[in-house]
Amino acid sequence: MPLPSQPIPPGGTIGILGSGQLGRMLALAAGKLGLKTHVYCDASGPAFDVATARTTAKFDHPETLAAFARTVDAVTYEFENIPLATVRFLEALVPVRPGAKALACAQDRLNEKRLARELGAGTADFAAIDSAEDLAAELARIGMPSVLKTRRFGYDGKGQVKITAASEAAAAWQAIGQQPAIIEGFVKFDCEVSVIAVRGSDGTYAAYDVTLNEHREHILHRSTVPAGLAPATAARAVDIARRIGDALDYIGVFAVEFFAVDGDVLVNEIAPRVHNSGHWTMDACLVSQFENHIRAVAGWPLGATARHADAEMINLIGPEAAEWRKIASEPGASLHLYGKREARAGRKMGHINRLRPARSLK
Ligand code: AMP
Repeated sequence: MPLPSQPIPPGGTIGILGSGQLGRMLALAAGKLGLKTHVYCDASGPAFDVATARTTAKFDHPETLAAFARTVDAVTYEFENIPLATVRFLEALVPVRPGAKALACAQDRLNEKRLARELGAGTADFAAIDSAEDLAAELARIGMPSVLKTRRFGYDGKGQVKITAASEAAAAWQAIGQQPAIIEGFVKFDCEVSVIAVRGSDGTYAAYDVTLNEHREHILHRSTVPAGLAPATAARAVDIARRIGDALDYIGVFAVEFFAVDGDVLVNEIAPRVHNSGHWTMDACLVSQFENHIRAVAGWPLGATARHADAEMINLIGPEAAEWRKIASEPGASLHLYGKREARAGRKMGHINRLRPARSLK
């Protein structure tokens, strides 16, 4: 579908595939700009509460997808496990941003790492694994510890196993379900950082400040800006993200996660969507990652990515959200809750942004 030459004006409708908290915050940002949203998902979720319209149907139902497409001016998505066939089907009917090319790359850890290398960026040592024999051979080459990861559908540490001895290889291959995988050398990183970047429909590029990320039990716990990287290292990360965006003809916000090691950055993962490590932009920037994504999808000019404060974002996981009254009374804290009813263990229920006067701005 050719890109419309005109931006989608206020009053237009953005279709969002997926009904989680990212879809919810996208819908809220669209509302700020006078745009409507239609959320399509196979199950109801936090985005349904704030969308203008909602459809509950499977992602492989052509008639419902076609009916959805007729109600929207462009489509985007909030997670990368949307079937590629769904995006291809919709692309024939309505602009889908980011497009299938970006989604196909980011759905597969092997493609992501190959692209990073092609663009001159470093990654952990890696190899494709399709059998127990491949695994034994590559473990011998790469050495241990290593991490075996499924190529597809992994998130928050799911679908991956650390291997510290050759004797663990068979069990690791079983544990990930003997499916196409990638083996990576274990990186003794100094820290983990991410770049949240946005690319407009005309190819313009902007990035938020590099963010320092700390995980607990494989789930993001805290994101902090400034990240404390040397300026040249941070600039390199932002430039790698730019090259990735250009290579994928990307439209919208995306995240590149890196390991920072010895003054350099190694690409770990590309997320073709708004990202948890960019939630601080909601309070510390004039234009948040969610608004910039909507702007890009709608063909609008991108908004300012500069931050006006130092910031820390803390995820509220499971029962931590029960503290909402205390957090709500904390000066300097901005509370975001996703409206999820059940506070299951490991579930992202909301986040807190804490701002401090800026010590260092770009
Ligand atoms: P991922 O799903 O690839 O983002 O991995 C989840 C987390 O596991 C990362 O944020 C790292 O903390 C850790 N991890 C993944 N791959 C590696 C690696 N090759 N070396 C060291 N740590 C890793």
